[in-house]
Amino acid sequence: MIREHLPALAATLTAEQGKTLADAEGDVFRGLEVVEHAAAIGNLQLGELAENVANGVDTYTRLQPLGVCAGITPFNFPAMIPLWMFPMAIVCGNTFVLKPSEQDPMVTMELVRLAAQAGIPKGVLNVVHGGAEVVNALCDHPAIKAISFVGSTAVGRQVYQRASLAGKRVQCMMGAKNHAVVLPDARKQPTIDALVGAAFGAAGQRCMAVSVVVLVGEAQRWIADIVAKARTLRVGPGQDNPDLGPVITRKARQRIEALIAQGVEEGATLELDGRLPALPGHAAEGNFIGPTIFSGVRPGMAIYEQEIFGPVLCIMAADSLDEAIAIVNANPNGNGTAIFTQSGAAARRFELDIDVGQVGINVPIPVPAPMFSFTGTRASKLGDLGPYGKQAVLFYTQTKTVTARWFDDDVSSGVNTTIRLR
Ligand code: NAD
Repeated sequence: MIREHLPALAATLTAEQGKTLADAEGDVFRGLEVVEHAAAIGNLQLGELAENVANGVDTYTRLQPLGVCAGITPFNFPAMIPLWMFPMAIVCGNTFVLKPSEQDPMVTMELVRLAAQAGIPKGVLNVVHGGAEVVNALCDHPAIKAISFVGSTAVGRQVYQRASLAGKRVQCMMGAKNHAVVLPDARKQPTIDALVGAAFGAAGQRCMAVSVVVLVGEAQRWIADIVAKARTLRVGPGQDNPDLGPVITRKARQRIEALIAQGVEEGATLELDGRLPALPGHAAEGNFIGPTIFSGVRPGMAIYEQEIFGPVLCIMAADSLDEAIAIVNANPNGNGTAIFTQSGAAARRFELDIDVGQVGINVPIPVPAPMFSFTGTRASKLGDLGPYGKQAVLFYTQTKTVTARWFDDDVSSGVNTTIRLR
């Protein structure tokens, strides 16, 4: 049903959220992949069995539903992220209360209606709308056993703390500052295309957007080419399918514009200024910002310390791969990162030494396919288990370990007061 309604779902998403139609289709499609994965749940829910761990005794596990689970989702993927949550929770035997982003709940509601039409029983999938008070009520409610949150780090930390104190299982996937490290041996044109697409796609409003590029050694000469490529991108209303649409609200636009001004004040070089792009009929009332690029960015600058969540790319310089790895690991966030190189040895070292959840090798936005799990380290993630993939099965179930013996006669083996099983 999602596949059949994909064009209509994408049209609602674009009208409400602003991302381009092509990107909106991707948002729905990546969610659909999780639904298809959830449909194969039988293979994932197998427990474990150890036979004859002691004389005639077997030990096995059961994965049982938790009961009522809840999900709190952000504005930037109003189709994909709800679909990370309720299909997995429900196929694990739970009921679900979803709290969509109050900024763009319409496409989420269309998906929920489709789920009801597909036969999810009444009462199994529920939606509550609202902001902080509703989220707090979910965190406090004694009937809710687990909460999956996706959103900013500040809110995720509060949700984690409040819901954990109320005894719930909690996972929070949070904010990011994703670095792409470019070694001088990388293939130049595909690398620049990948960086520009990942920095400015969805107007930079992706938790996995490339927001920082670390150019190593000779690659520092590529700045002019990156800027030239970014200049070719078209900004406009999502319905016209440009390269990037508007940001989510006027407030977001003003915040991003203020951060760009602060970047200039703090001494970064503004290579490309996307503020107030010339869009006849749209610029004044629309929340448009074009691709914006800073070079000479250093730790301590607001544009580096904060998640801008807009079409702003920070370029930094490093003399070696070691220095680049040290920069990435010193940043508090650990959501996504990527390396661009033709050296397998360099890529392998990066992959092992980097302290970030999702690592791309010549792949700028390495969001894992649903048979794996979305991860994250440090300030980008609280809780151990991911929102989809095998880890989600463990998150949405209680593992029960059963140790069983069956007596096949009436013969007493005597009273045993030690801990050993005989
Ligand atoms: P947000 O934190 O403002 O909102 C997320 C959810 O929390 C919404 O449902 C909102 O209603 C609720 N909320 C907002 N303020 C609250 C408060 N004070 N108390 C309780 N609940 C509150 O995030 P957003 O702006 O919608 O989304 C963007 C953020 O989400 C970015 O930081 C982005 O990196 C992050 N994100 C992370 C991932 C990931 O997987 N790591 C994925 C997508 C987005």
